[in-house]
Amino acid sequence: MTTDPCGCDAPGRAALTKVQALERLLARVEPVGETETVAIADGLGRILAEPVISAIDVPAWDNSAMDGYAIRHADLASADGRLRVAQRIPAGFAGTALEPGTAARIFTGAPVPEGCDTVVIQEVCEAAEDWVRVPLDSKPGANIRRIGEDIRAGSEVVAAGTRLAPQHLGLAASVGAARIHVRRRLRVAVFSSGDELVMPGDPLGPGQIYNSNRFMLFGLLQRLGCETIDLGIVEDTLDATEQALRRGAAQADLIVGSGGVSVGEEDHIKTALERVGTLELWTIAIRPGKPLAFGRIGTTPFIGNPGNPVSLFVTFCLFGIPVIRRLQGIAGDLRPPTLQVRAGFDWPRPDKRREFHRARLRTAEDGSPELLVFPSRSSAVLSSVAWADGLVEIPEGRVIQKGDLVDFIPFEGLLG
Ligand code: AMP
Ligand code: MG
Repeated sequence: MTTDPCGCDAPGRAALTKVQALERLLARVEPVGETETVAIADGLGRILAEPVISAIDVPAWDNSAMDGYAIRHADLASADGRLRVAQRIPAGFAGTALEPGTAARIFTGAPVPEGCDTVVIQEVCEAAEDWVRVPLDSKPGANIRRIGEDIRAGSEVVAAGTRLAPQHLGLAASVGAARIHVRRRLRVAVFSSGDELVMPGDPLGPGQIYNSNRFMLFGLLQRLGCETIDLGIVEDTLDATEQALRRGAAQADLIVGSGGVSVGEEDHIKTALERVGTLELWTIAIRPGKPLAFGRIGTTPFIGNPGNPVSLFVTFCLFGIPVIRRLQGIAGDLRPPTLQVRAGFDWPRPDKRREFHRARLRTAEDGSPELLVFPSRSSAVLSSVAWADGLVEIPEGRVIQKGDLVDFIPFEGLLG
């Protein structure tokens, strides 16, 4: 992790790159330590604190992979392929040992009887009431799923630090795990700074706008499995801002703010944080979403995002979400996952800053994936975010021609 040799944290100093900003943020937060045990039915979206270890072999016994006949292969030659069907073993039942010269009618998933070394599929057998004719060239050992073939007893099936998706729950259930050990849910407090803000449902007065950021932040936090604490709209005064920060620090593991992070006279985040805690204000060389504040009140970290809704969404996706995943104890690479996709657009006028434009993934005429970019570059147009499937990342100074490979950050990938 880089420290700060250039001293460029100070406002007005050189801007940080996206990579530097994320490295710094991640170096400043640690996972919340508390854990709890929950029923596996309540595990969706939780983060495993301890790995799920299988207590059993899966399959737990040799079993039939097909509907057919369980035989002892060596019997085929002596009986000229004609065997007496001495038992019937459906799934869920155990048969008895195969007597020499006999076969067992068997169904998919049923344990193969002792002495059986081969299952022959029913389609190639000729069956009568109590006997079956099995082809002499049947392959020995066929159609048996062996004990422990999928999972060995004692092996790890889901690693600590995994956010549990439906398939992880299925896997944990398949080894009989009834309860799992997970991290406590992260508690995140949210406030929106701005005297102009009004909640939907209330009438708009002169100069007022609706608070959209609150709903984007809550939506993202809920999708990330956080508990949310609503600190509401905070007026543009030093007192109100300090109070919101104090209230947040008393209840939450993380405070997320929107607006008021610039250094104008209506922006109070900086001074308020300097009074109740500590603050670093960073300029990041990205568009949209330049200023980002990181602070601490006691032990509670604070992230202050720009108020502009598109900037807020972009900065929160790029920086806020990785911080949350770190606090949640998710293991592995916390950077937003990126895909390389062909540009379906030209980008002739590059910017000095790295740009994150709203992009939509579509299938081109030749069947391959391609990215479209939202026509307006304005960071004020929230409809661009609603239209998009993700962000296309255009490095500083880079010209893009239709057909070039570009980096794409899908929104869905951010939430894992
Ligand atoms: P600020 O970062 O406070 O200077 O705000 C930048 C721009 O974003 C201004 O036009 C604000 O009106 C707008 N804005 C700030 N907070 C919100 C919010 N919660 N919802 C919608 N727009 C906002
Ligand atoms: Mg403001």
